[in-house]
Formats: sequence, C-alpha cells, structure tokens
Amino acid sequence: MTEEKESLNFIEHIIEEDLRTTHNKSDLCFRFPPEPNGYLHIGHASSICLNFGLGEKYSAPVNLRFDDTNPAKEEQEFVDAIKRDIEWLGFTWAEECYASDYFQQLYDWAVQLIKEGKAYVDSQTSEAIAQQKGTPNTPGTASPYRDRSVEENLELLEKMKNGEVGEGAHVLRAKIDMASSNMLMRDPVMYRVLHKHHHRTGTNWKIFPMYDWTHGESDYIEQVSHSFCTLEFLPHRELYDWFLDQVYDADKLRPKQREFARRNLSHTVVSKRKLAKLVEEGVVSGWDDPRMPTISGLRRRGYTPDSIKNFADSIGVGKRENLIDVSHLEFNVREDLNKKAPRVMAVLDPVKLVITNYPEGETEWLEAENNPEDESAGSRKVPFSRELFIEREDFQEEANRKFFRLTLDKEVRLKNAYIIKGERVVKDSEGNITEIHCTYDPESRSGSGTEASMRKVKGTLHWVSVAHALPAEVRLYDRLFTEPAPDAHKDRDFMEFINPESLQVITAYVEPSLKDAKAEESFQFQRLGYFVVDRDSTEDKLVFNRTVPLRDSWAKLA
Ligand code: ATP
Ligand code: MG
Repeated sequence: MTEEKESLNFIEHIIEEDLRTTHNKSDLCFRFPPEPNGYLHIGHASSICLNFGLGEKYSAPVNLRFDDTNPAKEEQEFVDAIKRDIEWLGFTWAEECYASDYFQQLYDWAVQLIKEGKAYVDSQTSEAIAQQKGTPNTPGTASPYRDRSVEENLELLEKMKNGEVGEGAHVLRAKIDMASSNMLMRDPVMYRVLHKHHHRTGTNWKIFPMYDWTHGESDYIEQVSHSFCTLEFLPHRELYDWFLDQVYDADKLRPKQREFARRNLSHTVVSKRKLAKLVEEGVVSGWDDPRMPTISGLRRRGYTPDSIKNFADSIGVGKRENLIDVSHLEFNVREDLNKKAPRVMAVLDPVKLVITNYPEGETEWLEAENNPEDESAGSRKVPFSRELFIEREDFQEEANRKFFRLTLDKEVRLKNAYIIKGERVVKDSEGNITEIHCTYDPESRSGSGTEASMRKVKGTLHWVSVAHALPAEVRLYDRLFTEPAPDAHKDRDFMEFINPESLQVITAYVEPSLKDAKAEESFQFQRLGYFVVDRDSTEDKLVFNRTVPLRDSWAKLA
C-alpha cells in the first residue's frame, strides 16, 4: 500500500516531465473550478483532493475559481456552500476568483478576434446552427452570416452587450473550420444573449461567455500551469488551445489542459443537476440531507474530512471511468471513527430486563472505557440498576447453540457490568415479551479481578439503565437508491430507483453521559454502529443520525 502511494500517478508524471523540460517549480499553479449551481458532491471531492493535493505536494498555489457564466442557474447560496465545504475538508485556496471578474477582459479579447476576422455574429436560430454542424463524417455548412464585415460584427456585438437585442437573436461565434474532424472546432459559440440577473454582475452584462471561451482564458489570466478536468473535456482540448493561441503572449506561462476520469459512486447520483432534482421534488430534505452524496450531506451524516480525503486518495486518479462501490466510502468512515469516536451504550429497540436479585432503588456507577483504540480517551461512569433496557433482538426464549446472546438458563455478560442468567419472561395478552427476568452474579463485576469476573461467557450485551437513560430520536439511513447505477439505465429515469426505505426514525435510549453532546459529535453506539449528533438536537431532545452500521449489512445480502 505505501509503495503504491509513493509511486506517481499519471498526473504527477505529467508535472514531473514538465519540471524536467519546460517549467520551473515556481511556475506551478492549479485551480479547482466549480460552477456555483449546486452543492459539491463526493465526485468533486476527488477533484479537490487532486488539485489541492498537488498544491501541497509542490508547494504551489491553488485557486478557487467560480465558473459563473450561467446566471440562470447560479446563486450566492451555492458560492457560500462551496467555500464552506472546501474549508471543512481542510484545504486553503490561494485566491478566490470568479470567471465573472474577467467578463470585461474576455469581451475585449472578443472584439480583438472580430477585428482579426476570427469571430462573427450569427443571427440564425440555435436550431439552424445545430443543423449546419454536420456529422463526424461530413463537414458542416457555413452560416450565411459567416462573412459579415468587421464593422457590422462590432456593431452587433455592442448591441448584444447593451441589451438592445432579445435573447436568442444573435450569438458570437469563433470563425475556425466548418470542416474540422473535431465538431467542437466548427465555429463554436463564444457568447449568447441572456437578460438574466447574475449573482455578482447584476444586470451589467446581457451577454455571457460560453464555457470553452471562458475556461482557458481564465486559466491564462490566473497563470494556472495545469488545468485538470474530467475526461469528457478531452475533445475540447483542441479548442482550449485554439482560444489560447489567439491571446497568448510568449512572455507568459501557457496553461495546459489535461484530463482524468470522473469518479462515480454506487447507489447514488453524482451530478448537481440530478441532485437538484431530488431537492426540488422533496425526495430529500435539502442539499445537506444526510442521505445526499454531497459534502455537506456526508458531513451531517457524520463523515469526517479525513474519511472523505482518505477515500479520494485511495481510489486515486485514473484514466478510465468506473463505479466505486459505496461500501468503500463506508469502510473509510468506519476506519476513521474507530480511532476517534468515543464508545457509548444505546439501545435502539428496547425490551425491559429486570434483575430480580439486585436491590431495588440502588444505583452503581460502573467504570467504562471510552475508546479501547485510544488510551488517552480515558473512561467514564455509567449507571447500573435493577431495571435495564437491552436490545429486543438480543434475547430469544428458545435458541440454538449458535445464539450467543441472552436466552433462558444461559449466562451472558452485560458490558462493563455483571454476568446474568435468563430466568423467565413476562408476556402481554398477545404473547409479546414485555419483560425478561434474570439473576446476576454479584461477584462477577467487570474489572473487579475476582474469579467470577474472569469466567468466560459466550456473549456480551450492551444495555442502559431504565431510570437513567435518555430518550433520543435516532434517524436510521439507508442507501438512497436501490440500484448500483441508477442513472445508467437507458430507458428508465433514475428517479424510478429511489429506495422508499432510505429513512427510518425511531426512539432509542442512550446512556446519560450523552446529555450535553453537541451537534457533529460522533460516537460509537457499541455493537451497533457510528452515530452523530444532528443539528436538530436541542437541550430537551437529542437527535442522532446513524453514519454507518458497524458491519456492512449489504455484504451479507450479496
Ligand atoms: P456536475 O455535473 O455535478 O455539475 P460538473 O463537472 O459540471 O459536475 P463543476 O462544478 O463544473 O461540476 O466541476 C468542478 C470540477 O469538479 C471540474 O473540474 C469537474 O471536472 C470536477 N468534477 C465534477 N464531478 C466529478 C466527478 N464525479 N469526479 C471527478 N471530478 C469531478
Ligand atoms: Mg456542470
């Protein structure tokens, strides 16, 4: 594993090669360029870890660049959420940049292109333009407006910019090659008219630059050395370079675009557009619903920054797209929380256990270790009394030899406490068990050093004292989709695969040490899983989210 980590990935090879041939170390500069049209998701985490990871490795600046060129979908709320999420992951950007800050420079360059005969205003409908694009094997057809005079082009662009023409009336296109084998080079659109309010430029601009025209030029303005994007942009690279050629000054650093494979996670969707649909249709409570694969959803679910970064690092960067099973992400959060989360006892599905030979009204405060994985975590006291709650599934009246939990006439240990023996059950008129009666061995207290305490019994159960336990709302989450790749079905919409049982809300009982637990504090509920305090928690009512069960319950089903 360490060897693998130390070997360079293909992106690092590209950089090392550039450092040997064309670049100085001080030339290196990276960027993470989200569009503020939604919250960041786990796929973005891969790109963040890649870019900021390179920044750390080469001591190079990494800019946060908002690619905000589409006012119809972008909002300040998303800008704020993106910044919050990157900070929470523990990364620091060098400059906070906005493509919209470059609108004037981009416009000036567009004017220059027109003057050089390399751009023209097309007044056809978008449908007509699309029809003339041709196919990969047949060249496109030139627009009847392709040879407009420079003067007319300048005049029209000015009108577009000032809002004197309606949306869709004209576009500005680069004049490249309608016969190029790369369809993207067939006179791509550079600007469109949009009379929409932009979250930063307000109503100042009525024309907005397209992605291809904006991205490389923004990289150039910021002097980004390596612009990493996902593989679907590979065919755009030629256009990225063409646009750069038009403005490039040989004294400056020339950015290069390189591509890596998108990361997909199973049983969810990683696309802001699709996640927005889940929010808009109320399938989830918001972008930070703990079932969402967004960074803020994972955070609320109890994921730690380290668990997400370790996940991203362990899948690494690749050249081929693949679907990573969500169990891999779950493995990473278990591993991290196992080291960090204090252990506590909580009972999710309680049944009452009465210790008939334990004195009524007595309470003992028993020593309990906080985290066997971390000595410095210390210990706490948990109250023990005559009436306890245990997990309903931890008792069976009649059980086979493989059932190592409580049954009649058999002994088990109560965690941090005593060995007990099942004696009889009390049932209601419908035959449901309402109480389990048992006896305890007063000599068997954990850690007391007596012979009885050393006695080996097969099972250990968690419990809480009825009189001391606190009720808590517990939200049990499951996968949001029943299918591994809900959006990979040709004839079916991803919304058809929503898991109707992705959320179950129950009342559980937790030990009293949790009384003052704060939002985002994580705990291991022993034998059950990892749980985090939700921000809906109040002084009067604790609310927990289940981050992940202790074991992968889906693995058994497979
Ligand atoms: P979405 O479809 O969810 O909006 P996007 O690629 O359009 O994704 P951007 O905000 O434009 O989202 O992306 C910012 C950066 O994150 C880009 O460099 C993009 O390539 C990268 N990125 C987005 N999704 C993934 C993913 N699933 N895996 C790896 N990188 C990703
Ligand atoms: Mg996008």
